[in-house]
Amino acid sequence: MQTEVVRVDRTKIDAYVMEKAGKILKSGGLVAFPTETVYGLGADALDWEAAKKIYAAKGRPSDNPLIVHIADIEALSKIVKEIPEAARKLSKAFWPGPLTMIFEKKECVPDGTTGGLSSVAVRMPSDEIALALIRQGGGYVAAPSANRSGRPSPTTAQHVYEDMEGVIPLILDGGAVEIGLESTIVDLTGSCPVVLRPGFISLEMLREVVQEVEMDKGLIAEDSSIPPKAPGMKYRHYAPRAELKIVEGEMERVVSYINKKAMEEPGVGIICTEETSKHYHAGLVKCIGSRREERSIANHLFAILREFDKEQVTRIYSESFESPGLGQAIMNRLLKAAGHQKVQV
Ligand code: AMP
Ligand code: MG
Repeated sequence: MQTEVVRVDRTKIDAYVMEKAGKILKSGGLVAFPTETVYGLGADALDWEAAKKIYAAKGRPSDNPLIVHIADIEALSKIVKEIPEAARKLSKAFWPGPLTMIFEKKECVPDGTTGGLSSVAVRMPSDEIALALIRQGGGYVAAPSANRSGRPSPTTAQHVYEDMEGVIPLILDGGAVEIGLESTIVDLTGSCPVVLRPGFISLEMLREVVQEVEMDKGLIAEDSSIPPKAPGMKYRHYAPRAELKIVEGEMERVVSYINKKAMEEPGVGIICTEETSKHYHAGLVKCIGSRREERSIANHLFAILREFDKEQVTRIYSESFESPGLGQAIMNRLLKAAGHQKVQV
């Protein structure tokens, strides 16, 4: 299959291109497209034969459910049994945007789309290209990140092309995404909203809208004895080809530990920040962003992991980004990429 990459200007969306993309979705095909979080791999969410193609293209385990993307709030009540008060408040505050909510599903949502669960994950993205595509594609687009399963999520159309060339017919290229980390997932099927995946919308931001929100215990458990509630969170994810280790501790000690390793070992890659980059004297050093601007770190994380795959490195040492807010989402992804390998110095 030939994979076409078509540039789409967000300020002047080409109706002809969107119509063509919508036709592919309506006839059961796949289209990759930008969202504000990462690039998504879209299929008609209400057509199980179409959504199945997503699992095949990604090599994704079939028990890992898909998020259904909608373009307007009216679409929600047609696929979920009940919209709890907390969900109404959260949708008012954060939709369209990087928040996914989990509801009890209606019959029309195929079991396959939800990995056999009786609940369904729903998000309304804010990216204009994504919204236009959802409208053209029938209103319900299942769209996980458009990477091969296990690889870092794509933040540019080029990343999608690397993973999906020859596998899907069309990639809509809207340039680099705005956020660079996947959406925050909140489960609303219980008595209290629970965060199943941290993201750009932090726990603090959620608590400003609905007072009671908890963090899934499976996410914070150090001993991994409690499985995470979102099926996808248990899988190793985002892994670069080289082994990745996260170094934690006081910054001067972290820098000196990584410097020592880079001098002793061949093929060392380093993930550092603008604040520390000039202090590294060996290894292949890549700067992820500035600690003063956490968004820049979130934005470059997946791209940097992919860049290292093109380099001759066998081990990567990364500084740590433990902090409240966005730092939680960054560390969640980095720890998964590292298979939870941490060094305390
Ligand atoms: P991705 O599509 O790659 O952003 O991954 C979607 C994430 O949402 C995965 O971690 C899924 O396990 C999770 N998810 C989707 N639907 C549900 C659901 N109904 N209940 C719990 N987690 C879900
Ligand atoms: Mg993904």
